[in-house]
Amino acid sequence: MSGPDFPGATVLSSDSRYAALCTGFNQRFSGTPAYVQVCGSPGQVVDAVQSAIRNGLRPTVRSGGHCYEGFVTDGAGAIIDLSPMNSVYQDLGMDGAFCVEAGCTLWDVYTQLYRQYGLTIPGGSCYSVGAGGHICGGGYGLLSRKFGLVVDYLCAIEVVCVSAQGNASLILASPSSPDPEIQALFWAHTGGGGGNFGVVTRYWFAPDLPQAPAVATLSSVAWNWSGFTFAQFSRLLQNFGAFFAEHSAPDDPYRDLFSLLHLTKNAAPQIVMVTQYVGNDLTLLDDFLAAISNGVGAHVPQAAPVGHHLLVAQQDGYRTMPWLEATQTLNGSGPNRRGKYKSAYMIQPFPDNQIAAIWNALTDPTFQNASALLQVDSYGCEVNARASSDTAVPQRSSIMKLQYQAYWNSAGDDASNLNWIRTFYQSVYADTGGEPISNSVTDGCFVNYCDTDLADWPSLYYKDNYARLLDVKTFWDPRNIFNHAQSIGS
Ligand SMILES: Cc1cc2nc3c(=O)[nH]c(=O)nc-3n(C[C@H](O)[C@H](O)[C@H](O)COP(=O)(O)OP(=O)(O)OC[C@H]3O[C@@H](n4cnc5c(N)ncnc54)[C@H](O)[C@@H]3O)c2cc1C
Repeated sequence: MSGPDFPGATVLSSDSRYAALCTGFNQRFSGTPAYVQVCGSPGQVVDAVQSAIRNGLRPTVRSGGHCYEGFVTDGAGAIIDLSPMNSVYQDLGMDGAFCVEAGCTLWDVYTQLYRQYGLTIPGGSCYSVGAGGHICGGGYGLLSRKFGLVVDYLCAIEVVCVSAQGNASLILASPSSPDPEIQALFWAHTGGGGGNFGVVTRYWFAPDLPQAPAVATLSSVAWNWSGFTFAQFSRLLQNFGAFFAEHSAPDDPYRDLFSLLHLTKNAAPQIVMVTQYVGNDLTLLDDFLAAISNGVGAHVPQAAPVGHHLLVAQQDGYRTMPWLEATQTLNGSGPNRRGKYKSAYMIQPFPDNQIAAIWNALTDPTFQNASALLQVDSYGCEVNARASSDTAVPQRSSIMKLQYQAYWNSAGDDASNLNWIRTFYQSVYADTGGEPISNSVTDGCFVNYCDTDLADWPSLYYKDNYARLLDVKTFWDPRNIFNHAQSIGS
């Protein structure tokens, strides 16, 4: 917490902080609320929600401000900002569980869990992301093949909910509650997504959190776009898909390896593959790179940053360093700019028609943004050790997770970037209505990569879990106080 003396702050439009506190990390999104209420304790959050209701204002909640859509800013009456609530501690009053306050950034979480306890959670690589939205959306990251999803370790939450009478109060929810409605409220926060049921003030993680790896080995290799042929490109995607189709069982030795293939728009100089390995046998990493390069052509060192990932290694070779340093090195938060994202889970390697559509979009001569790409993340292993209904994240059999991205700075470039990424996505999933529906190849979309273009978002994000989420919404937010363009039931 921000300290016992922080009384909270009400930021009005006349305040010099107002513009900054009303704008998302994604600069496409900016709101005009009556005020921003900056909170330093759960009690202040209860008061902030109650005040908003009393004043007839629609409350929205921001922790890290990294939402991919305008869910916090669009039409906000009062933004409740939790960012001063950023402590991590072992809570003896909760049987030794680790408390993460919702305003923490992921860097707050990683550094505090690591330095004080030697532990970690398998969360996202971009560490300015906020715990508040990330965790309840089912966060994942470079340790997820080894350790699963962040929500697989969640054991309790504290959330401000609003009753049918309009009264805000703190609810402590865990799976061991005798009340099935409280159990369901907890479950809904294991992947149901932010801004749906109330304001989470604190998360608790099981005392048996994973030990952070001692060291991590990083590799970044690239293939120059210049002269790269469709045959080489196809082989690269086939190799990547085939490798993770073979190596995504929970007990596979390659669970220690996580790789991000950055298929850049060809206005960038290179396609880049960044890999983290946290195991003890570097020959596995050698063999992985050989398998991916097989028939593609020799890779070269990475020459420039890609997507939201920095330049990881300029030399062709590995860098081994303490895990915390590697996490810092891989941080890809990047600058504040405008962006658009789309996602897809894959349970099989890329079919030929999808490879052709990806190639066509990335080599489209009419669009020249070097900061546009398709990022293909390895997935599976421990993530797939759970069943679809164990948590609210139903996708538990994927081998890859795709993130379509475009970044730019000027509002004048919105139309061309949005058009490119929408056309790209539509073309890849042309045979399934333009969306990666659950079938034998794809398995929907990731709610943390929310995308308001999606038509059938309830099925794409939640599959069969949506019905239970609707029940939780009806019970815990009967007045639909917490709502946005894709909130449960909207
Ligand atoms: C650069 C970047 C990198 C990313 N990398 C990853 C990654 O590696 N892995 C991954 O899983 N995701 C990743 N994400 C997605 C990220 O997890 C989501 O955008 C997440 O929702 C952000 O949470 P936030 O608190 O920062 O955002 P906010 O904008 O504050 O909130 C996002 C949503 O959650 C709601 N919310 C926020 N706080 C609370 C709360 N305390 N209680 C209830 N609802 C709340 C908001 O109302 C909003 O609907 C990344 C995003 C960015 C911008």
